Amino acid sequence: MPDARRTYNGVVTRLLRIAVPALLVLAAAAAPQGQSPPASPLRLVSPDGTRAVPTVISGDTELIAIDDLAAIFGVLVREDAPTRAITVAYKGRTIVLSQDQALASISGRLVSLPAPPTRIGNRWHLPVEFVGRALSVIYDTPLELRKASRLVIRGRMRVPRVVVRHDVGGNQARVTLDIAPPTPHQVLQDGARVIVRFDADLLDASLPTVQSQGLVQAVTSDQTSVVIETGPRFASFRATDQTAGADASRILVDLMSAAEPAPSPAPGTPGAPAGPEPPPLPLPTTGIRTIVIDPGHGGDENGAKGARGTLEKTVTLSVARRLKAALEARLGARVLLTRDDDRTLPLDDRAAFANNNKADVFVSLHANASLRRTAAGAEVFYLSLDRADEEARRVADAEGVAMPVFGGGTREIDVILWEMAQTRHLSRSAALAALIEGQLRTAVPMSPRAIQQAPFRVLVGANMPAVLVEVGYLTNAEQEAALTNAPFQARLVQSLTDALSRFFTSEPSATPAATGGPQ
Ligand SMILES: [Zn+2]
Repeated sequence: MPDARRTYNGVVTRLLRIAVPALLVLAAAAAPQGQSPPASPLRLVSPDGTRAVPTVISGDTELIAIDDLAAIFGVLVREDAPTRAITVAYKGRTIVLSQDQALASISGRLVSLPAPPTRIGNRWHLPVEFVGRALSVIYDTPLELRKASRLVIRGRMRVPRVVVRHDVGGNQARVTLDIAPPTPHQVLQDGARVIVRFDADLLDASLPTVQSQGLVQAVTSDQTSVVIETGPRFASFRATDQTAGADASRILVDLMSAAEPAPSPAPGTPGAPAGPEPPPLPLPTTGIRTIVIDPGHGGDENGAKGARGTLEKTVTLSVARRLKAALEARLGARVLLTRDDDRTLPLDDRAAFANNNKADVFVSLHANASLRRTAAGAEVFYLSLDRADEEARRVADAEGVAMPVFGGGTREIDVILWEMAQTRHLSRSAALAALIEGQLRTAVPMSPRAIQQAPFRVLVGANMPAVLVEVGYLTNAEQEAALTNAPFQARLVQSLTDALSRFFTSEPSATPAATGGPQ
């Protein structure tokens, strides 16, 4: 959210010398060449309706042409050839970009972007993150980029995120909807369908794949509803609302078969025909936690490789999927994976995904490699502040000096590095790392250096407690065999689940404010 972003603490402050750019109107012409379109288009949702936002993928970065940016968002874009600056103006407020740097200057404050402006043919392109990180700051109506959901939301639109899960237990099924922010809704039955209808403009829904047990055949969604298609065994349902602070709520829809005993539902329960006593499926008792699990590598990046050909990207995904199932079942947590298939995913997108989903915890999973074939054991990392800070200074030194600023003169500028979000969570990250190390030690071999600090790029942008777990060494023959083995993976998952459970218990109860902050 833009307001939260502006509250970012400056990490590095520098004096930057600037020049008055003589502005020239930017020439825009030829179409992009040699770029690929995104797998699914970005959609702009606003009170005026919905439209596609044309973007291209170039390497790891999704780009938008600045003339499209001008047309869609009503901004004025200029290129200043002598100072190599590009300015984006909106109603008298200005963002200045340098053609050589992955930074944008907004009224003297800098935010970082995943890549510098890129020239494709005759058109300048900016990373789409520009919309959420920079343009939203000068815009006069709310502007939010939800890249993973392929949405740009403009204006006061109600687009709640709804994550839906399906669990089966005995003669009943449960469909759980986690909603952020809490949104008024109705649960009603229409023939064979149970419909959760939201008072919203659009749902940003993530739906489960259902393996039908005769109660729930499928879960679908339309513009404003989640639709549970029931099966032949379905007889009745009961819907229960739960709140979790100001930021999230949960709806449990329990679906029962006719064979169930059917006492009357709890008084005041909305929209429910007769249903049985509270189900055996676990009811979470504390606030709903959101955990983002990041299976390391993927797609073109195999990561480490064992002598028998085991790939790190496969091990991390397998452990991540098991961990997700365990955390959902045991903690009732909302668990999201940064990837759930074999795809390439840039490091910065992984933490950004956790930030965008307001995760309470971010856990990146990896498997290690060493030239020393005897190296073995799990290791837990959290971010090293000193070295990350050093890195930030290095980047600022290398990239900050020539940053042109519209308006002229010499100005003192807060350099606010997007990548430094993790620094404010280091003590809690250290506590989480210690809990994970303690639990892993009871179940799997540990490295002599079981807990360490390192400047891992995947952690620096995470705006919540974040750790990286190396589950073992693929270059060690014994460990390679173990890491592909289900009982070993189950021990890893059990330890990680125990540690996260302890971490949440040790924390003050869900504090929505602590999970917000910069997106
Ligand atoms: Zn790795």
